[in-house]
Amino acid sequence: MQFAVIGNPIAHSLSPILHNNAFKALKIPAFYGRYLLEDSFYSLRSLHLKGANITVPFKEIAFQSCDEVFGIAKTIKAVNTIVFKSGKMLGYNTDALGFFECLNFAPKNALIIGAGGSAKAVAYILKEKNIATHIINRSKDRLKDFGNFFSATFSDFTPIDSYDLVVNTTPAGLTSQDLPLDVTILTSLLKNAKLAFDLVYGKETPFINLAKSLKIPYLDGKNMLINQAILAFIIFMEAQNITIDTEKLRQSMQSIL
Ligand code: NDP
Repeated sequence: MQFAVIGNPIAHSLSPILHNNAFKALKIPAFYGRYLLEDSFYSLRSLHLKGANITVPFKEIAFQSCDEVFGIAKTIKAVNTIVFKSGKMLGYNTDALGFFECLNFAPKNALIIGAGGSAKAVAYILKEKNIATHIINRSKDRLKDFGNFFSATFSDFTPIDSYDLVVNTTPAGLTSQDLPLDVTILTSLLKNAKLAFDLVYGKETPFINLAKSLKIPYLDGKNMLINQAILAFIIFMEAQNITIDTEKLRQSMQSIL
């Protein structure tokens, strides 16, 4: 059985190592590779994979290309997990639940910084869980995807409340020392928060460092990455009618990162 992650760029993806390690631990004869797709998403069907994960920039086109889409992927309009079954391409989104499963308390409300693909997954799962959620972004254009939410640009934003959960969904700090938002505003937001969550993983970002210096609880994107991979793996195996030991699966993926 062959699986793969599809994206552009793709060389940095940790999905192959997570999934291949799990196949080995669970003694499942399968292989998980990676494909750099140029612009033709439609060539995916010709790869004869049993399943795939989809990453930037193909999550929206994957949604449009599936024969059927399930769960929260329908609301987000983005698919990160595909299975091929009975000649059909079936789509799911595991980013959203992967994020939510990291939370170890029930926030009253949340503020999301950024309005890209991952912000959509985070916003819609929080909405589904009845957590009042506001979105702010540095520019206006992408805020139109959040019609059902209170949203504002940084320059129009005046915090009207304190937020239990502050989530950075921007890549700010990934390759620079930038904070996603003005330091004074961010400090006042984080001071009142119960959790600062940065989706970036593999690096201690200025956002996380600020939360640390304010002594408020924080999380980076590592557990979200593992959770979405576990959920995708379960979907892949269910489509093959293979029952797996989910605790062993979790242990094998956690041992990698
Ligand atoms: P997108 O490109 O879809 O969106 C990026 C957003 O960040 C946009 O709203 C953009 O604003 C904003 N932004 C970009 N740079 C800055 C900056 N320097 N300052 C302030 N805002 C900025 O990206 P994704 O949503 O797909 O991914 C965002 C991050 O989340 C990435 O670092 C990615 O690695 C991480 N991620 C982690 C996951 C995990 O499992 N841990 C899963 C998915 C993503 P504008 O509209 O103005 O351009």
